Amino acid sequence: PEIVLALHDLTSQTEHEEALAGLSAVDLLTGLANRQAFVDRVSEIATARDAQELLVAFLDLDNFKTINDALGHDQGDLVLQTIAQRLSHAIGDDGLVSRFGGDEFVVATAQTPGTGCDKVVERLAAAFVDPVALNGKQFKITVSIGVTVTDDRSQMHPDSVLKAADIAMYEAKRRGKARVEIYDESLENRAAARLEIESDLRRAIEENEFVLVFQPIMDVVTGRAIGSEALVRWQHPERGMVPPNDFIPIAEETGLIVPLGAWVLEAAVAQTAAWNEQGLTRRALGVSVNLSGLQLGDPNLEHRTHAVLSRYGFDPAKLTLEVTESTLMTDGDGAMAILERLRDLGVRIAIDDFGTGYSSLAYLKRLPARALKIDKAFIDGLGTNAEDTALVTGIIGLASALDLELVAEGVEMETQLRELRRLGCEYSQGYFHSRPL
Ligand code: C2E
Ligand code: MG
Ligand code: MG
Repeated sequence: PEIVLALHDLTSQTEHEEALAGLSAVDLLTGLANRQAFVDRVSEIATARDAQELLVAFLDLDNFKTINDALGHDQGDLVLQTIAQRLSHAIGDDGLVSRFGGDEFVVATAQTPGTGCDKVVERLAAAFVDPVALNGKQFKITVSIGVTVTDDRSQMHPDSVLKAADIAMYEAKRRGKARVEIYDESLENRAAARLEIESDLRRAIEENEFVLVFQPIMDVVTGRAIGSEALVRWQHPERGMVPPNDFIPIAEETGLIVPLGAWVLEAAVAQTAAWNEQGLTRRALGVSVNLSGLQLGDPNLEHRTHAVLSRYGFDPAKLTLEVTESTLMTDGDGAMAILERLRDLGVRIAIDDFGTGYSSLAYLKRLPARALKIDKAFIDGLGTNAEDTALVTGIIGLASALDLELVAEGVEMETQLRELRRLGCEYSQGYFHSRPL
């Protein structure tokens, strides 16, 4: 209402229009420039008399929704206002800081050609060093930043620089958030590849373009393979062998992981049963299969697992289903119930990538798990890095207190294996023994 009154008081038509233009260039919550102002600024830089380099940074706050949901919108707004203030302060008159709604900020600066992005990135990052006080507590706010720099006027379209910075920002999120990524064309190819994978995946499942590779899991004491982990590969007609990290997340988003996972389970059990029938090893081999969170929500999982085991006459105790900590944390009780039913079939449950998630120890105690797989991140420094060695020692103590078996993942060197043996870890898996075959 105040704004409307102010406009009514204006006398001339031009004054009226100027006031409206002024208002429409401002984001009301933060007082920053808005999208229109950004577009105008980029056009200005693109047509400036002196050749200039344009830097555009796309900032997206990490986990902002969590703050908003947990502390309320007032506190969420306060975060946006605080960050807005810090960013304008950091950039000053050297550029334009704008907010595009939500928790997205965009910075545009014109600079001398060849300047690059280090300086600006440093100033942006400095705005996130101090925590923000909310409801009397200090909260650390982190941000994912995508940056693009160009001195080519023909590239300085507001839409295309924004798209480039956005693609780089998405890459920063994908690589674990709280980081900066610089745009280059390979990222664009990756974004395009991702879209293509999405549309290809459905067809690939129908035409069964997947294969399994198996990585042996070794008994640390005897040095013999006790079984293997089945790892899926996509044998793409044009792209060649596609690694799981490139398509499993997409299969999860689209729900296609359910039919794909069903195929993996059956193929892994069928192959291992065939090896055991051939008498490949003196003792029957086991097999580990990865389950994604979405599969735990599939009402058919228990029935299907049971059916596969009986179809191949496979000993349930030789089948391990691997689930990650994060899977368990997102749907705690539902996941727990289905895992208990799987355990009651006689199947072993293992916690994969242990140490990288947020397991509470109380929760771990209640889990129907039989084994922990220590993540490669801790094994890397085993025997050379004191902290890693201490952590692995601690995990081994924890596992023995909870009566859980242990598998070390990503063992690449003999020194690591020796340490594992010394510390009493039972099983080992990694390139040192064998790549997936
Ligand atoms: P994961 O279950 O933790 O599997 C171990 C990964 O580490 C495998 O990568 C394996 O090749 C790799 N690896 C093993 N030893 C070493 C080592 O010594 N050094 C290094 N650098 N890497 C090692 P891969 O096959 O690319 O699989 C990646 C992830 O994809 C798996 O991690 C798993 O989370 C997922 N995945 C694979 N197959 C399936 C599947 O059938 N279903 C589901 N839901 N996820 C799967
Ligand atoms: Mg695994
Ligand atoms: Mg793992």
